Amino acid sequence: MAKDIGHFIGGKSVAGTSGRTGDVFNPTTGEVSGQVALASKLEMEAAIENAAAAFPGWAGTSPVARARVMFKFKQLVEENMDELAALLSSEHGKIIADSKGSIIRGLEVVEFACGIPHLLKGDFSDSVSSGIDMYSMRQPLGVVAGITPFNFPAMVPMWMFAVAVACGNCFILKPSEKDPSVPLRLGELLVEAGAPPGVMNVVNGDKEAVDTLLTDPRIQAISFVGSTPIAQYVYATGTANGKRVQAMGGAKNHMIVMPDADMEQAADALIGSGYGSAGERCMAVSVAVPVGDEAADALLERLLPKVEALKVGPSTDPDADFGPLVTAQHRDKVKGYVDLGIEEGADLLVDGRDFTMQGYENGFFMGGCLFDNVKPEMRIYQEEIFGPVLSVVRAPDFEEATRLPSDHAFGNGVAIFTRDGDSARDFANRVQVGMVGVNVPIPVPMAFHTFGGWKQSAFGDTNQHGPEGVRFYTKIKTVTSRWPTGIRSGAEFTIPTLK
Ligand code: NAD
Repeated sequence: MAKDIGHFIGGKSVAGTSGRTGDVFNPTTGEVSGQVALASKLEMEAAIENAAAAFPGWAGTSPVARARVMFKFKQLVEENMDELAALLSSEHGKIIADSKGSIIRGLEVVEFACGIPHLLKGDFSDSVSSGIDMYSMRQPLGVVAGITPFNFPAMVPMWMFAVAVACGNCFILKPSEKDPSVPLRLGELLVEAGAPPGVMNVVNGDKEAVDTLLTDPRIQAISFVGSTPIAQYVYATGTANGKRVQAMGGAKNHMIVMPDADMEQAADALIGSGYGSAGERCMAVSVAVPVGDEAADALLERLLPKVEALKVGPSTDPDADFGPLVTAQHRDKVKGYVDLGIEEGADLLVDGRDFTMQGYENGFFMGGCLFDNVKPEMRIYQEEIFGPVLSVVRAPDFEEATRLPSDHAFGNGVAIFTRDGDSARDFANRVQVGMVGVNVPIPVPMAFHTFGGWKQSAFGDTNQHGPEGVRFYTKIKTVTSRWPTGIRSGAEFTIPTLK
């Protein structure tokens, strides 16, 4: 029977009262496994109220105390890893080892947030003038919100709330309505770890919930990760309402394969990064760019059998390379792009559209697809497909291979595979993309660096996590202080200058 999935507000699990719900599927079986409550404006306002009430107390705690909550939270997530990964896979469809990997990548941000006492240390200047010292400190913003996508229901929320809460903010998470159960569990675990009720709230919902966050004056900052049209909307609406906004969008990540690359290594890298998690990753490689026809033929000779041998399976199958797509609707959209690629004149070398999983005929499966001779003017090149579909775009030379990702509307990740340090360095310096891999296909920065793309892949000035995350979730205050107060200079009517 489908379970009811509500909200986590003020430290308590609460049922939805809006009367509106959405289906949550098990993508492996195709069955509806839950009904997620879709919050009304009033329900979201109740969560904001709870968070606002908790803020002064939480902001007043020592960063050391907040770090201890993060340490405990990390321990609890680790203790519950098997349950969380199984739950994640049951709603998302990715294989369990991949779910665990994504939770671990999220926990790395929690580990980073455990260092918050050090990260929040301010600057101090002694004796900037006679008896005057100056110091600056980073203070939390208040109630902040995170709106997250379906493809990383644990990792992306942790990118946001670990840093935000450690900085002393109270957080409202509005997860994807497609896989809401893990984010809810994370909220419960953070409160179990010692965050007071109201510090962390998880409110499920759709546009109505998001619009309430974007317009409510009590929300100070919004962090968004999702598709580009919604990222643009969130950025425009949030900033128009006076909020600090960072909004990460879609992607089309290229992998350049130079003629001197180790072709076997490059083919393996493409298989993992193109088809892992059924291509539902914002850092998935969806375009391979071999340089020169010789390199293209050598690459395809190795790649083709690997794509044909991909093992698709239920998310619980430990031997599967990838599982089903998140919903039937999304699977059909991806298949539609494969149809479109054929119409546009690309060569479909491997066709996974008709794949059905024996024993799971209603699951949202499709096999891996591989296109050759994709051209930059085709829509399958320009748009994000977000499925197990890899396009090969042949480039005549290094310049064209550098120009392709640089001129593309998206600019999230890119990689170059080569044995030549000169071309790697030149490429990394010139390419117009935010995250670059050299012989690394998915260059997702570690938690202590920051994550963010360029162009249509991110809106706003600050990236996710790392030092930029701390800057995003705090505001700086600078204090000029005179001790002893006995030093008198008399009334001054000109701007103070150093005497
Ligand atoms: P999505 O944009 O459909 O949804 C993201 C969030 O926005 C969800 O919480 C959803 O409920 C909400 N939302 C959806 N429609 C809305 C509307 N009309 N108004 C207000 N809110 C709305 O994205 P998705 O399908 O869940 O996730 C996949 C997308 O996320 C892909 O484009 C992928 O590239 C992107 N993504 C980007 C990054 C990154 O860091 N750049 C990371 C992960 C995923």
